[in-house]
Amino acid sequence: MNGLRDTFWELPLADLNRAEWEALCDGCGRCCLHKIEDPDTGQVEHTNVACKLLDTRTAQCSDYRNRKAFVPDCMRLTIKIVGEVPWLPESCAYRLRHEGKPLRDWHYLISGNRESVMHAGVSVAGRVVSELVAGPLEHHIVEWETP
Ligand code: SF4
Repeated sequence: MNGLRDTFWELPLADLNRAEWEALCDGCGRCCLHKIEDPDTGQVEHTNVACKLLDTRTAQCSDYRNRKAFVPDCMRLTIKIVGEVPWLPESCAYRLRHEGKPLRDWHYLISGNRESVMHAGVSVAGRVVSELVAGPLEHHIVEWETP
């Protein structure tokens, strides 16, 4: 892959170039789902409601390059905030590397197969509903497992 060093995913996050940072994502799609945060306690409930740009069959953003134009509050995960986002799944590649842990064996960079994330039950593909048709978020609270 262009601009990617061998086993770059074993390097500290701070040493990754832009292409490597982007390639680190396992594509699970969980950060593209709505959450409900209790304003008093800060507790976060997860839902199965996806951002309107998420392709619910593949769990991929349908317009990643221009997403900010359509969804201005789309969070851009950066090295500065990766440790401060409490709702990232335990298996999120950025969270794992921030914590100094190795990627899971189903990560495509380890398995060599982009579909491993689905077979491992981590991807939200086919398990979510678009915000365009979902209705109230409170009707869609779920607990996502992290194998
Ligand atoms: S939760 Fe992490 S690994 Fe999964 S899609 Fe979001 S940034 Fe990528």
